[in-house]
Parts: sequence; C-alpha cells; structure tokens
Amino acid sequence: MEIIGFEKLSLVDFDTHTACTLFTAGCNFRCPFCHNGDLVIKPTEFQRVTDDDIFGYLNKRKGLIDAVVITGGEPTLQKDLPEFAKRIKDIGFAVKLDTNGTNPEMLKRLVKEKLIDYVAMDVKSSKEGYQKAIGLKGFPSKVAESVEYLKTNAIDYEFRITLVDELITLSDIQQMADWLKNSKIIVLQRFVERDGCIKKGLNEVAKEKAEEYAKVFEKANIKVKLRNYD
Ligand code: SF4
Repeated sequence: MEIIGFEKLSLVDFDTHTACTLFTAGCNFRCPFCHNGDLVIKPTEFQRVTDDDIFGYLNKRKGLIDAVVITGGEPTLQKDLPEFAKRIKDIGFAVKLDTNGTNPEMLKRLVKEKLIDYVAMDVKSSKEGYQKAIGLKGFPSKVAESVEYLKTNAIDYEFRITLVDELITLSDIQQMADWLKNSKIIVLQRFVERDGCIKKGLNEVAKEKAEEYAKVFEKANIKVKLRNYD
C-alpha cells in the first residue's frame, strides 16, 4: 500500500465511529474541486507511511478508536488493498472505504470477503456532466457498474455528491435522481475551498439551492441528507 497521509483521530469521517484516516497515493480522476490536489498529482513527493507506523498505532489505540477510514486519492488503485483491509479487520477495527467507483471488481471482492464495513462512493455528476466534474474526457462506465452494485445493498453505503456551483446544475441533479433511483441514501456535501484544491476559485452551492436539489431526490423517493450545511 502506498499511504502518504495519516490522520490519527477523526470524529467526522465515519458516522458514530472514532476513526483514524489513511490517505492513499494517486488518483485516476482530476476533479477540479479535489481537496487533495498534491496527493493526486504529485504523489511521489510525499513520504510513505509505513505498515509499522499504522499497525503500531492501531495496536496501541484499541478501545480508544474503533475504525479505519481508507481514503485517497483513490484507494482501489492499490492492488494490495484487500490484504491490507484484512489485516485491519483481523485486529478488530471496522473499515470504511471512500472510492470514486472506478474499480467495481475490487469493490465486489472487498464486500464479498467482508473486508470492509461501509462504502462512501462519490458520484460526481450526471453521466453527461461527468467529464466537467472529473477533469477528464468522457464518462467512465465502471462508475455505473459500481453504482448498480451498491444499489443491491450488498453492504451499507452512501452516494456522496459534492456541490460545486460551477460544476453541477439543476439539470445534472434531475438526471442523477433518475440514474440513482432506488439508492439507499444520497449525501449532498457542501464544497469548501481549500489551499489544496486542484482548481482555485470554485464556489459552494448556497444552502437554499442545495435544499432545492435535495427536494429533487426526495421527489424520486430517495433518502437524502445535506452535509456540512449547518
Ligand atoms: S476528489 Fe477524489 S476522485 Fe476526485 S481527484 Fe480527488 S481523490 Fe480523485
């Protein structure tokens, strides 16, 4: 595993869990709003976090933290993610995976082998709007495969949509309500500009507009919640 970031305590990344968060190197998308631009574009410039650092920490914190969030970058680019997740599960921690959905094969394996407990999958836009949202050409069909797989409820999950005013429109949201129907839950997440963003000068969607977007999903009978809009 190429891990280049280690946040030792997080109370916000995995619901009620007290977790630590691991950031993997590199990503196959270039979302302009990405908070981890350097980690995505220049992963070789970071020092690796070793297994000894991680497992030494986990073994000492048993009972104080109960979960590990594996985020990125894109964690499913790491070929040994299943073995790594198993090591974490074997010492008694829950595992949450954050993913952009481009590796449904690995996602299915992780679920079938019970190596993860929760998946937060980013759905960046409507299929039509995807290329603008990921900074690359076209719509990756693997994303649709992951969406359909998670909709089978093989594992607890959420679809997460980051609301950036310049990158998503009401029309995208309407198309997504159709695409994502029968989903368990959609989380509409407020965008906050940070120094690490790939593109500067992007703006959040205002709360009133985010509430309008939420209603579109509700009308399609999809449970929806706003995150970080309080
Ligand atoms: S937001 Fe996620 S999927 Fe997009 S570039 Fe950043 S790490 Fe990759």
